[in-house]
Amino acid sequence: MKKALITGITGQDGYFLSKLLLSKGYEVHGIIRRNSSMHQGTLEKLNPEERQLIKIHYGDITDNNFIVNVVEKTRPDEVYHLAAQSFVGYSFENPTFTYHNNIMGTLNVLNAVKEKAKDAKLYFAATSELFGRTTIKPQNEETPFMPNSPYAISKLAGYWTTKSYREAYNLFFCNGILFNHESEVRGPEFVTRKISMGVAKMSIGDTGPLILGNLNSRKDWGYAKDFVDGMYSMLQQEKADDFVLATGEQHTVREFVEEAFKIVGKNIEWEGEGINEIGRDPNTHDVIVKVDKTFFRPIEAENFLGDYSKAKKILNWEPKTKFRDLVKIMVENDISLLKKST
Ligand code: NAP
Repeated sequence: MKKALITGITGQDGYFLSKLLLSKGYEVHGIIRRNSSMHQGTLEKLNPEERQLIKIHYGDITDNNFIVNVVEKTRPDEVYHLAAQSFVGYSFENPTFTYHNNIMGTLNVLNAVKEKAKDAKLYFAATSELFGRTTIKPQNEETPFMPNSPYAISKLAGYWTTKSYREAYNLFFCNGILFNHESEVRGPEFVTRKISMGVAKMSIGDTGPLILGNLNSRKDWGYAKDFVDGMYSMLQQEKADDFVLATGEQHTVREFVEEAFKIVGKNIEWEGEGINEIGRDPNTHDVIVKVDKTFFRPIEAENFLGDYSKAKKILNWEPKTKFRDLVKIMVENDISLLKKST
C-alpha cells in the first residue's frame, strides 16, 4: 500500500486530495495544527468511513523537529506540501507571519524529505500569484515571475527551493503552478465563497447587500476537484517537473456575481463606477451588491490567464468543470447548507 503525507490536509485542496488518494487505496497521513476547539477544518466534511482512515499527526510545519519526526516515522512514498497561509489579502496585513509560515515551513518540509525520505516524490503548491503584475498573457511555465504580494513572494521562495533541491540533490520534487481553484469547501474569506454564501443567504430572505472589492479583477477560476487530479498525476510521472494547471478562461468577479445571482433567479443592474458602483435587483430596486475599498488589494493583480498545454501534453490533464458549473456547485451547496442549519 502506497503512503502519502499531506500538509494542509484541513484546507480546501486537502479535502479533495484526501478523497482522491483514499479512493486509490493509499494510506493517507495528514498534518493538523492543534487548536483549542479541536476543529479539523474540511476533514470534518469527509464521510465517517473516509475520516477514520486518515492518520493524523498534530503539529505545525514551522516546527522543524516535528516535521522531521513525522517524515521519519511515516516514510511516505509521496508528500503533498499544501500547508500555507494562503490568503493574499491577509499577507499584506501580516507579511512577517506569512514569510515565516510559508518560507520556513516549506524549508522544513523540503529538508525533512531530503534527509529522511529522499526517495519520496514531493509536490509543492506554488501559485499563479507568482506572475503578479505580468502583462504577458496567457502565462505558462516559461513566463517570468513578477510577484506583487507577500504571499506571492513567500511562494516564490518555495518554488525556487523546490526546483533547486530537485536539481542539486536529484530529488523528485515538483512545483504545481496552480491558477485559482474554488469549490464548495473554499474558505469563506475568498471572494468566490463570499459571493456564493452571500447569494445563498439572499435567496432565503437575507437583505444583503453583498459587499465586495474590485469587480473588474480577472481570474482564471477552476474547480479544486479537477486540480487535485493534476497534482496526483505530477507525482506519477517518470521525471519530476513543474506544471501550470489552469482553465485557460478568464472571468471577472463581476461575471461570477452575475452568474451566482442568475442561479437564484435574480438579474443585476449596475449603476455608478469604481468604489461608488452598486448592483440593484431590477424588480425590487434593492441594492444587492456594493463595493468597498477595504476589500481592494494594496496592489491589484488582475490579469491571470493560464496556459496548461504542458500539463495537457505530458500529464494528459484537462480541467473538466466549466465556469458556470463551478458557480452552480458553490451556490447550490451553500443554499443546501443554509437549509439544513435552519
Ligand atoms: P487553504 O484552504 O487555505 O488551506 C491551507 C492549509 O494549510 C490548512 O490546512 C491550514 O491549516 C494549513 N496550514 C497553514 N499553515 C500551517 C502550519 N504552519 N502548519 C500546519 N498547517 C498549516 O488552502 P488551499 O486552497 O487548500 O490551497 C492549498 C495550497 O495551494 C496552499 O499552499 C495555497 O497557497 C496553494 N494554492 C491554492 C490555490 C487556490 O486557488 N486554492 C491556488 C494556487 C496555490 P489550518 O486549517 O489550521 O489553518
